[in-house]
Amino acid sequence: MICDRMGANQAPRDDSSDKISPDMSETDQIHEEFTGVPGRYWHALEDGRIQCDLCPRLCKLNEGQRGLCFVRARTDDQIVLTTYGRSSGYCIDPIEKKPLNHFLPGTPVLSFGTAGCNLTCKFCQNWDISKSREFDRLTDAAMPEDIAKAAVAHGCRSVAFTYNDPVIFLEYAIDVAAACREVGVRTVAVTAGYICEEPRKEFFRAMDAANVDLKGFTERFYRELSNATLSNVLDTLMFIRHETECWMEITNLIIPGENDDPGELAEMSRWIFDNLGPDVPVHFSAFHPDWKMMDTPATPHETLAKARQIAHDAGLNHVYIGNAHDKGRQSTYCPNCAMRTIGRDWYELSEWRVVPFGNDGAACPGCGTRIPGVFDARPGTWGRKRQPVRLADIPT
Ligand code: SF4
Repeated sequence: MICDRMGANQAPRDDSSDKISPDMSETDQIHEEFTGVPGRYWHALEDGRIQCDLCPRLCKLNEGQRGLCFVRARTDDQIVLTTYGRSSGYCIDPIEKKPLNHFLPGTPVLSFGTAGCNLTCKFCQNWDISKSREFDRLTDAAMPEDIAKAAVAHGCRSVAFTYNDPVIFLEYAIDVAAACREVGVRTVAVTAGYICEEPRKEFFRAMDAANVDLKGFTERFYRELSNATLSNVLDTLMFIRHETECWMEITNLIIPGENDDPGELAEMSRWIFDNLGPDVPVHFSAFHPDWKMMDTPATPHETLAKARQIAHDAGLNHVYIGNAHDKGRQSTYCPNCAMRTIGRDWYELSEWRVVPFGNDGAACPGCGTRIPGVFDARPGTWGRKRQPVRLADIPT
């Protein structure tokens, strides 16, 4: 059953009161009735509440209450996902926009999001979707098979769950991933990786690639700016890297005065090198004043360049800067002979100097060193275009 009606008394909540593990009975939520698909990962508590076990917030819900993410709710003594099959719209993006630089470079990816989020980042750069309580925005409805079919019809090599965190719509994302695999389309999760151990296994084993947002490298940062915990995200990174086939890249949004300390960046880079290895690509991207941090300045380009150098010095082989024109720092280089193997300027490819390696790998043509990732024999030609699409327009 698909959600088709939201409660009439939907009330916006104040994110500033969120706790990492909120006791929803303490909030002033209004009792609502929900429709949706049955959710996984929850259990009944002795006091009559139901605990959602999907993410570390472990929301404890009475009948008629929503979790902090706003899209999972308790109704008829179970947790339901209220956004299954609903989207805020679809767009074909360059895969480099996710960002993924080592996953089918140059190809188009069919991207969509739903609504809600399980983090409460004060610096959210997608707040109009992730903080949305307006479910009227979810105008584009599609079953998993429709999305897979649309990806094929538009020549997309992959489908991305993005714009808001797919962890909170796990059941839908996993069904879409299965439908895509049936037709040879891959799936990409753009996520903060804030998820409990058991659902983490099911979720990332269903994905072909992930870009995980490592927001900072102190528990203080996660607690004060995202109301979350760093340790859980590090566990997710370790799990994806060592226990799945999912290709992973990391993004770190650098916020002036909050997580741009060179010592912290060096510590984060060393942790990645020691725990994930030198070949996980890392993207440093620029903050722009948004949401609840309008008074914080945008990240200077020099800060991104410095962060990249720090990560290189720590031994990481593939470090990029985002949201800028800087071909020198956005291209891919052979970690052995330093040849520029894939030229890149923002989302646009230029040089393509790699040779096939194994099934879907690539190598430097000069010295034969493997370039880690998932590659076609030839680059895609999508360029930097963004193309909104309506799934209803796909012929049946
Ligand atoms: S997924 Fe949503 S309802 Fe479940 S614990 Fe996390 S925030 Fe709460």
